[in-house]
Amino acid sequence: MAAGRGVAARLFPPLRRSGTHGDGTGAPRFVDNGGMDTDPRRLLPKVDVLLGHPSLVDRAATWGQGPVLGAARRALDESRRAAAGGAPVPGVDELAARVAGELDAMAARRTRAVLNATGVVLHTNLGRAPLSPAALAAVAEAAGYANVEYDLAAGTRGRRGAAAEALLREATGAEAALAVNNAAGALLLALGGLARGREVVVSRGELIEIGGEFRLPQIMEAAGVELVEVGTTNRTHLRDYLGALGERTALVLAVHPSNYRVEGFATRPALGELAALAREHGLPLLHDVGSGLLAGELGAEPSVTGSLRAGADLVLFSGDKLLGGPQAGLLVGRAELVGRLARHPIARAVRADKLTLAALEATLAAHVAGRRDELPVWRALLLGPEDLRPRAAALAAAVGPAASLREGISVAGGGSLPGEGLPSVLVEVDPAPLGDAAVLARLRAGDPPVVARAEHGHVVLDLRTVPPERDEQVAHALLAALRPGGQQAPPRTPPGPGGQ
Ligand SMILES: *Cc1c(COP(=O)(O)O)cnc(C)c1O
Repeated sequence: MAAGRGVAARLFPPLRRSGTHGDGTGAPRFVDNGGMDTDPRRLLPKVDVLLGHPSLVDRAATWGQGPVLGAARRALDESRRAAAGGAPVPGVDELAARVAGELDAMAARRTRAVLNATGVVLHTNLGRAPLSPAALAAVAEAAGYANVEYDLAAGTRGRRGAAAEALLREATGAEAALAVNNAAGALLLALGGLARGREVVVSRGELIEIGGEFRLPQIMEAAGVELVEVGTTNRTHLRDYLGALGERTALVLAVHPSNYRVEGFATRPALGELAALAREHGLPLLHDVGSGLLAGELGAEPSVTGSLRAGADLVLFSGDKLLGGPQAGLLVGRAELVGRLARHPIARAVRADKLTLAALEATLAAHVAGRRDELPVWRALLLGPEDLRPRAAALAAAVGPAASLREGISVAGGGSLPGEGLPSVLVEVDPAPLGDAAVLARLRAGDPPVVARAEHGHVVLDLRTVPPERDEQVAHALLAALRPGGQQAPPRTPPGPGGQ
């Protein structure tokens, strides 16, 4: 830490860098009070003594003194309270270990790469779609100054998102497109921009909740529109919609129930019929397809182009599901509607960041060029058991007799392909004597952390979501996690709890 940093230097004067005590024992310093004071709390080291402990000097050098000082004060306060209640007074080494532990735990919570051995391709908790190498390079390039809102030919202000929108039009055939921060934001914008203060008609079978507190009725309320529910959970007919259309209707909304399927005695009108009905009444039809399959067939997923062709006026979807790009909310459809939304103040509030736009452009360019297989999401989805079996066998062989292969199912996740599994070959590991929870915890504590799952007391790994060049790392992590009482690999120096 450089000396003389003005205010910071005054707030955090340089610490003693050498050992804790003259005698090197790390024992707390006694306060000489003539033997009159027997309060055990006085045996606690002073804060600067604690901060001088070598393990904390190291951490202060990496993360700055502020976080270390805060954690040291908390540890001392806690020990003081505990000592008042009769608990033994910890020595300086123990206190320093507690402080270091708290700081390291804080650092471990920072965003870091993990190996996803769950087989869930679009794992919302693990960041959904991994970016392609081209998208990654585009992000790195845009991270500095970039022409995000600057027209290089004219030398004047340009329109943010113009390149991504051109690619979206190219990829979907839509008249116009708009990219915002995420699909929930796109929905808020579409509803607020086109139907605020008026009614929006939706089927009861489509009032979805998806992960991360996305509940359709609440988004509608936040957008200031009035929800008019029609039909029932399992059956909604065209005449139900017809009966609900009136003077105050602004919009008909269709939502793909992306994370569940209603099976059996269920029906809903075809999108084309709904589009015709909306058109007859001069109302726009907004279709939230969620997962962003651009075109073609994939199970029961609605595609963006299919929805436009069926007559939807606006289609919205996520950037980080089947599109395989960054978190984004994409709106495509009629130019007049998209234009109104682009000019709405909510569009400014939910606008996409330059890193998002860069990654989105690279991802869309891969789709447009017919190179979907460059996207990690599509690579993972397209792997068959024949691709996975040799990799799983190699992993099982590396682990030894505790591991075996079995046929199983991976899921697309992220609200895509509900109820449709992808046939896979899994590695099943007997976690004895540690138990499944302990082995999973050890895997998560490794560097890099490995996330797997438990099934019937076994630890199960699915390599579909692991880049093949990382298989060996998974094998090492698994061997280390299974070693009885074994020494875990030491954690890498974490990046630290503060900014970097
Ligand atoms: C995933 C999903 C959303 C939310 O998308 P985000 O990009 O996470 O905001 C909205 N609607 C449907 C149908 C979805 O599947």
